[in-house]
Formats: sequence, structure tokens, C-alpha cells
Amino acid sequence: MSQPTIAILMTAPSTFTFDETPNAGASADSLLFFPISLRLAGSRVLLVGGGEVAARKVRLLLRAKPRIEIVACELNEELSALCAAGRVRHLATDFAPSQVQGCRLVIAATDDRAVNRAVAAAADAANVPVNVVDDPEPSSFITPAIIDRAPLQVAISSGGAAPVLARRLRERIEAMLPGNFGRIAEFMHRMRGRVAAKYPAGERRAIWENFLDSPGAESLLRGDETAADLELQRLLDGGAASGQVFLVGAGPGDPDLLTFRALRLMQQADVVLYDRLLSPAILDLVRRDATRIFVGKQRSRHAVPQDEINTELVRLAREGKRVLRLKGGDPFIFGRGGEEIETLAAAGIPFQVVPGITAASGCAAYAGIPLTHRDYAQACIFVTGHARADGKLALNWPLLAQTGQTVVIYMGLGTLPQLCAQFIAYGLPAEWPAALVEEGTSSAQRVIAATLADLPAKVEAAQVSGASLLIVGEVVRLREKLGWFGARANATTQLAGSIDD
Ligand code: SAH
Repeated sequence: MSQPTIAILMTAPSTFTFDETPNAGASADSLLFFPISLRLAGSRVLLVGGGEVAARKVRLLLRAKPRIEIVACELNEELSALCAAGRVRHLATDFAPSQVQGCRLVIAATDDRAVNRAVAAAADAANVPVNVVDDPEPSSFITPAIIDRAPLQVAISSGGAAPVLARRLRERIEAMLPGNFGRIAEFMHRMRGRVAAKYPAGERRAIWENFLDSPGAESLLRGDETAADLELQRLLDGGAASGQVFLVGAGPGDPDLLTFRALRLMQQADVVLYDRLLSPAILDLVRRDATRIFVGKQRSRHAVPQDEINTELVRLAREGKRVLRLKGGDPFIFGRGGEEIETLAAAGIPFQVVPGITAASGCAAYAGIPLTHRDYAQACIFVTGHARADGKLALNWPLLAQTGQTVVIYMGLGTLPQLCAQFIAYGLPAEWPAALVEEGTSSAQRVIAATLADLPAKVEAAQVSGASLLIVGEVVRLREKLGWFGARANATTQLAGSIDD
């Protein structure tokens, strides 16, 4: 069974397009369909046609394990391979109406309209449901756009009225459902007996609702059945669902840069602890009912000390809450995320960490400054420009002041003059390119591209005060060619230029 086509079928992503066909010029009644899910395992399904269109239908049908018979003079390569592997049967004849007898479904997929119509007429006469591909009028059923998270399926149909709209909707739902969502359904199916043994029918639903809100469901998504099993048992023993913490990187500002997982967990949270750097547009995406707690830190004004945040996370999770710790950028890059989860790990609280796009990647991309480049930068270093308590920078200057690399400095706005002076003192030319990106990726993004010598003055003149990232290296020059983001990109070039004058 080493047919290449079979390998493709088995490893294909769990997403299939099965677009309904347009119902052109149809009357209102002809758009009416009743959706059902049909059991096909072991049933006879007749497919008329042996080309690509037929093959597409076969690919989908096979997942439901019917006995497929294909009527066609010739089969294309894919179908021949399936036939050779014994997965479909080939009837190498012309279509004859008697072939539809005893079938559960019939699909007409030839490129000959007259043949397709004859198939539909024969199936109708025998009361067998029939679909003519791309021709809804003679079809007694149509196939929806499918999102497959077996055993869970989402089927979308506009009755053929607007297949493109149905497909758009499919894309949106697709993004909401993690690829392994089906695992939750499988688990619930397997555990049905266990729940039924302990609770009467009326109370089971509450157990499942609680389970889906618990860390158990998340455990299944990452493939940890043992943890899910323990969580379900806890609930069955009358315990409350465990709390959990989601340490989520929200990216640098543009909500479009959130990951699917970040968004999903944001929409599950009971309470959110967030930082100063989070844009209102991102906070808007957190579940409406979630309690919002601001714990932001500013360079000089500490809103909530880190150890208080750490203990607060533990306290809230112990109350059984789903706690979202939302951080700008990536939680593990200058985000103290490590310290927060150390406390959680020590307290035995379930947690997960969701990476986010860090300011360096976000700002670089939106400013048109590639962080590495074959000709200019073979390495990229991220450092913090935050001064120690004594006001000094504790940085490895001989390492940083090198050509052939890019240095990205977080939290360096306050120490910008010092930073630029040190680069020069340690040997980089005063004309070495350097840029400051303020509020990167947001609609307020400003980029000030200059040299080590004149950047501090330009930044001061521009009255920069938002979150700012410093990028030092020859790659900064590429911005002239590669800058692409927003109307402000031009405005800021002018701004930098006007200061030059
Ligand atoms: N964990 C975050 C960094 C937090 S430290 C991340 O991975 O991005 C805070 C510093 O990040 C700020 O002082 C600034 O230097 C930088 N920063 C974060 N968001 C930024 C943005 N949108 N534009 C410019 N700099 C940003």
C-alpha cells in the first residue's frame, strides 16, 4: 500500500474545500435545503466520471468509508491508483440507469452535461439522492463547504446562492478552530460512559460544560490525555475546575499580529492582567465579561511590583479562574514571563505560554528594515538599554560595536544619547546607520532613520515619547527601498528630513 496518492490522502491537512456549486438564477424554493450528516460507511456510492472533478469528490468521500463504484471509460492517474489499491471499484462501461439501483448516493461528475443529466434522471426515478457537480438544478442534494476536525465537522451552505460567501465564512471559522479540535470531541465520546455511570442525564451537561472551561480541554489540544483525564475525574469527584494561567504574547501593537492561539485564549479569560504597552484595540478583543486589571510598569513609576503580579496570578488561578496574563510582544523577550511562570510552576498551577511577535520583528518588518541581510548583517543581537540603578549601562560594548551585525535595543529611549556615544567610543563610525521606531506596527508608528551621531538630536526634536526601539546597523539603509507601512511612513521621512535642514 505504498501508493503516493494514498499517502497524500492520509496526511492531507484536516481542511478541505468542498465548495457548493452556484445555483444560478434559481427560484427561492430551489435555494431551500435541509442539512443532514449522512452515514456512508459500507454503503454503495456511485460516481459517474473519471477525471479531476470526480477525483476531488472521491478524496472527500473516502473519509466516510463508503464502497465507491466509479463508472467511466477511463480513470485519471489518481483514481487509477486508488483502484489499484482496492479503495474504489472501477466499472469500465458507459453509464446505464440500472447502475443506480441500491445506491445510497449518486454523484455525476463527467464533463458531458447530457450524461450528467441522464444520471440525475435515473437516480431521481429510483429515489436515490443525486448531486451533479457544478449543476444544482438537477441535483437533489448539494455538498457544503466543510471544515473537518473529525469527528467534529462544520458544514456551510448558502443553498448555492453565494458559494463565495460560504467560502469566506469557512475561512473565518477555520481560523477559530485549532487543527486538533477534534481530539476534544473524541475524548468526550470515549468518556461518555464514565460520566453516565456517575451522573444522571440531567446533570451530565454541567460536567461537560465545566470540563470544556477547565485546563482539561486545553490539555487535549496539546495532546496531554493524562492531564485531561485527571481533570475530568476531579470534576466527577465533585471538585471545582482548576484555574489556569495563559501567559500570552500580544505582539507589538497591531491586533492583526496576534496569533490564532492568543486570540482564542483571550476570548476564554475570566480575568486579564495587562501591561502598559497593550493597545486598546488588542484589549478590545479580550472576552467582554473578563475583569480587567492593569499592572503596567513604566520606567520610573512601578504600578505593581513584579512579585505582587506573580502572587496575584497564583491567587486568581487558585480561585478556579482562567487568568490571562497579556504581555506586549513576546512574553519571554524582556517580558519577565519566566519569573511569572516560575511562581506558577512552584505553586502547581496549570499554565501555558503563547509566543508573540516581539517588538524587534514587528518594528523591523513595519519599518522596512530586515534584521539580517546576506551583505550587511550576519547576526542580530537583542539587548536592553535599561540603565542599572546607578544610571550606568551594563552592556558588553566590544561585542555590540561590531560591523556585520544588527543590534536591537529595547527600552533604550531614556539612554539613547549614552547608547549612541558608546557605539562610537567602541569603534563604530559616527556615520553608522541607526533608527528609532516609535509605536511600531501601530497607526502612530514613526521611524526616525539617522546615524549614530545625529540620532539623539533628531529624536529629541521629534519629541518621541511612545514605546521605542533602537535599531543599529547597516540594514537601516534598506528602509529607503523597503519601507512600505502606512501613510505615516512618508510623513516620518519628511519629519526626519525637515530636522536635517
Ligand atoms: N516583551 C516585549 C518587550 C517588553 S520591554 C517584546 O517582546 O516586544 C518594552 C520595550 O519593548 C519598550 O521599551 C520598547 O523598547 C519595546 N517595544 C515594545 N513594543 C514596541 C513598539 N510597538 N514599538 C517600539 N518599541 C516597542
